[in-house]
Amino acid sequence: MNKRFDVTKPSMPPIEEYIEELGTIWSSRWLTNMGEKYAVFSSRLKEYLNVNSIQLFCNGHNALELALISLDLPKGSEVITTPFTFVSTTFAIIRAGLRPVFCDINEDDFTIDTSKIESLISEKTRVILPVHVYGNVCDVEKIEEISNSNNLKVVYDAAHAFGEKYDEIGIGNFGDISMFSFHATKVFNTIEGGCLCYKDEDLQDKLRTLPNFGIKSEEEIELIGTNAKMNEFQAAMGICNLRHIDDAIEKRKNAYHEYVDRLADIDGIETGIPNDMVSSNYAYMPVCVNADIYGINRDDLYDKLKEYNIYARKYFYPLTNSLQFISNLADVGQTPVAESVASKILTLPIYEDISSTDIEYICECIKLQRK
Ligand SMILES: *Cc1c(COP(=O)(O)O)cnc(C)c1O
Repeated sequence: MNKRFDVTKPSMPPIEEYIEELGTIWSSRWLTNMGEKYAVFSSRLKEYLNVNSIQLFCNGHNALELALISLDLPKGSEVITTPFTFVSTTFAIIRAGLRPVFCDINEDDFTIDTSKIESLISEKTRVILPVHVYGNVCDVEKIEEISNSNNLKVVYDAAHAFGEKYDEIGIGNFGDISMFSFHATKVFNTIEGGCLCYKDEDLQDKLRTLPNFGIKSEEEIELIGTNAKMNEFQAAMGICNLRHIDDAIEKRKNAYHEYVDRLADIDGIETGIPNDMVSSNYAYMPVCVNADIYGINRDDLYDKLKEYNIYARKYFYPLTNSLQFISNLADVGQTPVAESVASKILTLPIYEDISSTDIEYICECIKLQRK
């Protein structure tokens, strides 16, 4: 096939819908700084995610960094997190002046291994920062128990978990703060963008002013902020994409199940087991390549698939705690499970309009490589 398969393809609304939103931006000449689109998007999003408080940002990374800054922790405070994630998670901690302490992950869902958290707590620990990786929801109940008994804050990197529910509760309601990313490659996008959902109403002022230079009103500047505002064009994209999100997730669900069915026939290619408590968004299609059974390893499969125009990705390899330049800034720890997963994981192309024929082709190519 000549067609190119990337790991993801951004969801886009019918162009007419976006043009209609642009019309009002053109007539108001209000391009950024919390305009009409921003207000409409913020309130619709809050409703969709079923959360009490929300703050929009220009992207997910800045949102996460500012979430940590808003907690006003002593410099060098420790944050327990995992290395099996996008570098953004780890960098947000370091850039906020804090110290990542790496905890290992579960072998089956790749989220933080809660049985290993407590042994990593020191007198400097202030935050647990788990990742709902691929939209796999962390053990939110156990994490709440640990944070309560140790008086720690919980900030979730929920970049992959947009629109998910755990036990019928919107995923943004767990922990003190959750960050969602609306990057073009995510399940829901505003081109670039992100938000924080948070519990403590006292954070509201800070989270509002931090992305706008700390400016509270024309003559009041209350803290050292930065520029991390979502602009009107991003918000307009959000308004449009939000209208179609349920449909997009439904299509991903069908694609996901089609993959699982087809891959079940291929020995050595392992897919995950769904969590009954979670209504998933099917953000990614991760598989583990068990080289002993499949015959070739993950790296060879990745290279081979490229010859067929299939651009799978090694999400997440390398681990963030293997980056040499952060070794002085973090407790890299021992994370053997994360190391093993990172060596065999491959995420396959999945997006809302991937067709049955596309998935059949990709699975046939994977089958052909088996030795
Ligand atoms: C995408 C992503 C981020 C960063 O979000 P941006 O919107 O791209 O800044 C953070 N953490 C994880 C796990 C991500 O996948």
